[in-house]
Formats: sequence, C-alpha cells, structure tokens
Amino acid sequence: MSGPLTPTDLSVDDARTVELGGLTVRRLLPKRHRRTVGAWCFVDHFGPTPPDGGAAMEIGPHPHIGLHTVTWLLDGEVLHTDSLGSEQPIRPGQLNLMTAGHGIAHAEQSIRPRGGLHGAQLWVAQPSATRTGAPAFEHHEALPVVDLDGGHATVLLGAVAGTEAASPARTDTPIVGAAVQLDGSGAATALPLTPSFEHAVVVLDGLVEVAGRPLVAGQLAHLAPGADELGLRAGRAAHLLLLGGEPFDEELLMWWNFVARERGEIAAARDSWQGGDGRFGAVASPLASVEAPPL
Ligand code: MN
Repeated sequence: MSGPLTPTDLSVDDARTVELGGLTVRRLLPKRHRRTVGAWCFVDHFGPTPPDGGAAMEIGPHPHIGLHTVTWLLDGEVLHTDSLGSEQPIRPGQLNLMTAGHGIAHAEQSIRPRGGLHGAQLWVAQPSATRTGAPAFEHHEALPVVDLDGGHATVLLGAVAGTEAASPARTDTPIVGAAVQLDGSGAATALPLTPSFEHAVVVLDGLVEVAGRPLVAGQLAHLAPGADELGLRAGRAAHLLLLGGEPFDEELLMWWNFVARERGEIAAARDSWQGGDGRFGAVASPLASVEAPPL
C-alpha cells in the first residue's frame, strides 16, 4: 500500500449480540467470512454496565484447549480462578493472560460491590507447536505505554511497531495487541503498524475516525497487511483496541470453548470435561460448572 490509507482500505463488520454469564456481549470475531486476525480468533466486548451492580459476570468453571484468553478491563473488577490454583483479581489497566494448551479450566466472577463492568475478552489461537503443551497463567499489573500525538497506547501483547516498548507477556506467534486511549483533542494520531501484519480496530468507547471512517462500539474494522501507519482521530475521549499479527496459516476448528484442528480432538476434550477425567483439573469457585452443549 503506498500513500495514506483511505476509508475504502477498511472492511467493517458489525458485532452480533450474545448472552454470556449474566452479561450481554458484542461478539466481533469470529465471523463467517473472517475466522482470525493474525492469531486473534475471538473478540467479545462487554459493557459498560450501569454502576448499580445490576449486571455482573458470573461464568462458572469451564474448560479450554488450544488458546490463550486475554482479559482487559476499562471498568469494574473480576476474579479469575483456574485449575492451576491461580486466584487473581483483574482490575482496569492490568493484563490477564491464560494459556490453555492441552487443557485448563477457569471461572470468572465480578467482584461486588464495584460499580459497572466494561471490558473485553479475547482469544488467541495457539500454533501447532505449542497448542498441546502445558497450561499456564500470567498476570501483568504494569505494561509499557507508548506516547502518541493525541493519546497513548498500552502494549498488551507484542510491541507497537517502531518502538522499544514490548509487553512482558507470552506470545506464541508474531502478534500485537494494544489498548489505545485518545484524549479527544481532535489531533491526528498516527499509530505505527507492522506492514507484514493484518490488523483489526475495535472501538470500546467513543467515536473514532479510523483512516477517515467513523467507527463506534460494536464494529470491527479490518485492515489487510501492507500498511505501516494507521490514522486515528477523536473529538471526544475514546478507547479502542488494536489487534494484529501475521495472518494465521493453520485452519482452525472452533467449538464451544475449544480451539483445535480435528473434530476428534473436540469430541475427546468434550468427553474429558463431561466425564471429569482430570484432564482439566478442578477450579475453586462458588459457581456451578458449565456443561458442554451436545456436539
Ligand atoms: Mn473462558
């Protein structure tokens, strides 16, 4: 791509609405025509919920294979517990990264009373090299921040192109995840991109002109590889996620909470969870375990 991006360089999809553990979420990925952006394979945006504590996240123990879960909050507080014995409150500005590998189970529960809840849960597909490996859990309270004209970017995974600021979090494929906050000054923000990556922009709050195209919460804008800079502008304070990576070249089979390649792997993981054979371990949670749906 030569010259500045224009609105037609973006492909914009609308979210569908899903009820999940007490919350209404905007599901932005996967789409029928787009399964992945880099290795990002799942994007849920929830909230903001009213601060009266009416809606909360109450997701009982459930299993995962073959993916990392990334939880990022703008508001509220959630307790993560998993079958490795982790018990970790997640607060705004902190990165919660769980690696499923061959199997893990976790529960997520709002901590009350703690006002509204606003955030995103994202999945990153693990490549074949690591997807049957050991499960793991990381929590990062401090992340690098890149100053931009008109705002700043917090680096969740990977690095913002052309900067030294790299996230300490584990990545199994070339990938970037950044939470961008625009100050609403209306200044043009140039967000550097890695040209070999494809990217998605998800607005969490506010109205953002992305390469000249207005984007709001509930929309995902996709950008093919080739660009080295993305222009952003907001007349009021706004938050967005930049997600990107080298196009993921393995064909995924996603079912329920499992990311695999073959149907037999999904069936075996489902049998293990329903049969309680120990593959996923036990989670300390007051919430009831989630049953797998029929295959
Ligand atoms: Mn989960």
